[in-house]
Amino acid sequence: MHLARFPRIRLGHFPTPLEPMERLSAALGGPKLWIKRDDCTGLASGGNKTRKLEWLMAEAVAQGADTVLTHGATQSNHARQTAAAAAFLGLKCHLVLEDRTGIASSDYREGGNVLLDRVLGATYEHVPSGTNMDAALAAAGEKVRAAGGKPYLIPGGGSNPVGALGYVNCALELLAQANDIGLRIDWLVHATGSAGTQAGLVAGLQALNSGIPVLGIGVRAAREAQEAKVFDLSERTAHLLDAPGVVKREDVRANCDYVGPGYGLPTPGMWSALTQVAQTEGILLDPVYSGKGMHGLIDLIGKGFFGKHENVVFLHTGGSVGLFGYQHAMG
Ligand SMILES: *Cc1c(COP(=O)(O)O)cnc(C)c1O
Repeated sequence: MHLARFPRIRLGHFPTPLEPMERLSAALGGPKLWIKRDDCTGLASGGNKTRKLEWLMAEAVAQGADTVLTHGATQSNHARQTAAAAAFLGLKCHLVLEDRTGIASSDYREGGNVLLDRVLGATYEHVPSGTNMDAALAAAGEKVRAAGGKPYLIPGGGSNPVGALGYVNCALELLAQANDIGLRIDWLVHATGSAGTQAGLVAGLQALNSGIPVLGIGVRAAREAQEAKVFDLSERTAHLLDAPGVVKREDVRANCDYVGPGYGLPTPGMWSALTQVAQTEGILLDPVYSGKGMHGLIDLIGKGFFGKHENVVFLHTGGSVGLFGYQHAMG
């Protein structure tokens, strides 16, 4: 796998640290937990979208775009990182934000990531829940074109094969780190949403013949739909890598039992996992993704899903800025 064949613009601080979580592991009585700190990618408070944007923004620049547009939920970390990447490259940025949760409080609608979108100079529009977001994004792109601009459209979460290259690269990076310190990784666990993170990881880890299973903890869709979405994107990513067929359907595993009432809606288990990690490790998770992912990890540990002596790596995908949009919801 030779990723330098694909245009990339450096936006983040890599490699991100791979560190043990000793106090959390002890509190839970094993397995041995590790954390891959993709919340520390550096781009305007970081997160997993930074990796995808390195390849997406390179494509935007290669196409001569002067404006990048993307969509997400109101408190989208992807939108905020896109706004930062655009600012860094001197491009304009427009965001289409879906009111996916129906949360009306001002911290959610205007604080957290939305505040940073403004600070970073992006323009944005709020659209109602259930809007066809791809169509809304295309329409916003047409407006830019009609005004003489050159739009580049980034899909939700940056999840297409080009964006997923960022997580193929993360698979390479993680394996090199594990090899260097002599760490045998038995499981890699992370929150999965628009699928690009898991698709890139699975494609990369399979193409490298790593034997490391990935478990995505869903934050929105039901299991079957989520696994189908990840599998489809991992196949297309493998195709882009010139490694068609490396991902088998059974390599894609999601557990969607921790979504609760819906995307972006807090659950008691999420708050409990988020505060436990904060108070044992001093690490901040987020209410929408990594908090629910950690809830899944901790609950599955309680159910004996992992061996006591296995090494489990939790990929921290970022998003703690979103906490400032959820002040209203923390009981
Ligand atoms: C977007 C996001 C995810 C999910 O990643 P996908 O590639 O969309 O599946 C997980 N955690 C955080 C904090 C995110 O912003």
